[in-house]
Amino acid sequence: MPVQAITILGATGSIGASTLDVIARHPDRYRVHALTAHTRVDELAALCRQHRPAWAVVGTAADARRLGALLAGEGIEIGHGPQALAAVASASAVDAVMAAIVGAAGLAPTLAAARAGKRILLANKESLVMAGELFMSVCRASGARVLPIDSEHNAVFQCMPAGVQAGQAAPAGSGVRRILLTASGGPFRRRSLAEMHAVTPEDAVAHPNWSMGRKISVDSATMMNKGLEVIEAHCLFGLPSSRLDVVVHPQSVIHSLVEYHDGSMLAQLGNPDMRTPIAHALAYPERVDSGVASLDLAQLARLDFEAPDTQRFPCLRLAREALEAGTGASCVLNAANEIAVAAFLERRIGFTRIADVVESTLQSLGGAASPASIEAAVEIDAQARRRAAAEVLARAA
Ligand code: NDP
Ligand code: MG
Repeated sequence: MPVQAITILGATGSIGASTLDVIARHPDRYRVHALTAHTRVDELAALCRQHRPAWAVVGTAADARRLGALLAGEGIEIGHGPQALAAVASASAVDAVMAAIVGAAGLAPTLAAARAGKRILLANKESLVMAGELFMSVCRASGARVLPIDSEHNAVFQCMPAGVQAGQAAPAGSGVRRILLTASGGPFRRRSLAEMHAVTPEDAVAHPNWSMGRKISVDSATMMNKGLEVIEAHCLFGLPSSRLDVVVHPQSVIHSLVEYHDGSMLAQLGNPDMRTPIAHALAYPERVDSGVASLDLAQLARLDFEAPDTQRFPCLRLAREALEAGTGASCVLNAANEIAVAAFLERRIGFTRIADVVESTLQSLGGAASPASIEAAVEIDAQARRRAAAEVLARAA
């Protein structure tokens, strides 16, 4: 098999690091075409020296000059900004794109990869939440293959019938009754609402099972992450909200399940380590070593489950309401959440205010129509960010 050329969007992040770890185990299969970062120029320079991409991309012209000085004589082309991101995501030399930029900034380059018909390893769930219909229709038109990286959706994909995996059948017509997404419950699973008023950013980013970037760690603590994942599952697998359930499973060993009409439930299990879904998607339909240790079931001894509590975790309810209202509302939800999470991380609002900001923003703008173009999605996103920023100010500590 020829060596596959991979672009990693968001190489300096948590998913980027896990992807590079898997790729480096298989130099006979994969080589890096491009690595991108936004602000962490020194980290990107170190990754470039180690992994030798043809291209490196950063956020601004000034950072590109600094990167150029750091990598002088290395023979690596340097770019910056959204156009360069789109170019390395769609270049003809590229076989697969790891979409691992955090937040709405990931939409445009991921869509560029979709338009170019690339194999897309999709970690950036925000692209689907903002513009799921548009994104999936672009993929259908270009023949781009989407392989989910989010551990739950990767698990669901693995539990789907062969025809669904091959893109030849829909789950609804293939005997699937429902999808059951597992949730760890995050670091505040046992906290009361009153206790949650006082939690700090440090408490919120300390996830019990997974090591992740700051934004998704806060999303896990509010359970907005699971709400975004319900929307993501709808976009990827086409089932309605009523057939997308969530169960809290604190050990994060079952990554998700698919239930069939005959009562069978298929699950995917493994240690909570993102290198497993990354290796699965890179090699699909083959299997390669990911570096993840075997799961020791006897040592684990037990698996626990409980229903999610939408009173203490209102973000889960808000996301489901947005899914049922349509993609315009999901786009508003995503933007408001990004603004609220950033404000919480900067200590401008308390933890429980995140849901309040999202809810108020949805009340004002949740009637937005589904975006039919990237420009429309960006416009809804921008309007929701302005509204959410005003909601943050009204609640600032
Ligand atoms: P990190 O915060 O660790 O990394 C984010 C990456 O995106 C960094 O490389 C960062 O660059 C880059 N980036 C940030 N803002 C921009 C921007 N405006 N333009 C271009 N690049 C930008 O995030 P994670 O790796 O944790 O998450 C990445 C995505 O994967 C998210 O969508 C998340 O929801 C999803 N995901 C993550 C999981 C995990 O285990 N971490 C699990 C499932 C999904 P820099 O640091 O240089 O500024
Ligand atoms: Mg997940």
